[in-house]
Amino acid sequence: MDFMKWTVGDVTITKVPELDRVPGMRGLLPDATKEAIAPIDWLRPHFVTEELRMLASIHALVVEAGERRIMVDTCVGNDKKRAYDKWNQMDGPFLHDLEKAGYPRDSIDTVLCTHLHIDHVGWNTMWDGEKWRPTFHKARYLMGKTEYEYWEKEAEEDDGSAMLETGEVFGDSVRPVFEAGLVDLIETDHVICDEVRLIPTVGHTPGHVSVLIESQGETALITGDFMHHPCQIARPEWAAAVDYDSKQSTQTRLDMFERYADTPTLIIGTHFSSPTAGRLVRDGDSYRLDVS
Ligand SMILES: [Zn+2]
Repeated sequence: MDFMKWTVGDVTITKVPELDRVPGMRGLLPDATKEAIAPIDWLRPHFVTEELRMLASIHALVVEAGERRIMVDTCVGNDKKRAYDKWNQMDGPFLHDLEKAGYPRDSIDTVLCTHLHIDHVGWNTMWDGEKWRPTFHKARYLMGKTEYEYWEKEAEEDDGSAMLETGEVFGDSVRPVFEAGLVDLIETDHVICDEVRLIPTVGHTPGHVSVLIESQGETALITGDFMHHPCQIARPEWAAAVDYDSKQSTQTRLDMFERYADTPTLIIGTHFSSPTAGRLVRDGDSYRLDVS
């Protein structure tokens, strides 16, 4: 497998896919009907098929900066009991692929979860036959303090009916790393190292963050889920059904597009299918992603 890589000054960012170019998003973005996305022609062929099916990806991004090996988001994971058929008890080659990409799990020193949803925490842990253990046992796991406290409470209150499977997800993918003493609770503007820092992009969840990478005058931004699909670049008001505060998430998108449009900053989408990254440019009174 060839792994997608980007270079930002002295930093490299490698995409390690778990599920790439998979259909799905329609339920997540209810405004993005076929009729509504048809006129946004730059979405084809990378992000929408000729039949107007929206494509998505689930991947981790490994940021290599100096000695640091930082994994941003940890996908769905294997062996997890999940309601959604395609995510239930997966048996995928993610860890093997990670190693092939040059990053055996022992080499990861930092795990950063942009937020604590089901598809961003999965590989935090792995099943050892008896219990869930931290996958990256040599790493510190960075989680937003606000984010952690919110989901901890939600998990306690979940009687098994929560749409996002909060109790189950927190129990198998978040609490075990906390109990192993590997979690640092951080602020939303935390600086990880000289080249990598967080910026708050709340709305999708209460403590959501994005990751800003700066080196040698070059910049990249890993979005997390302040947007899920590039169609939201053209239509920032299209909120995700699972956004915690859709008004806030829309404002965050508008703020971020305003800040980064027509700049050289490489925008790397956490759920964008290949080619996954591009530059934001103004497009009439909206925006588009330039992947050329
Ligand atoms: Zn997500």
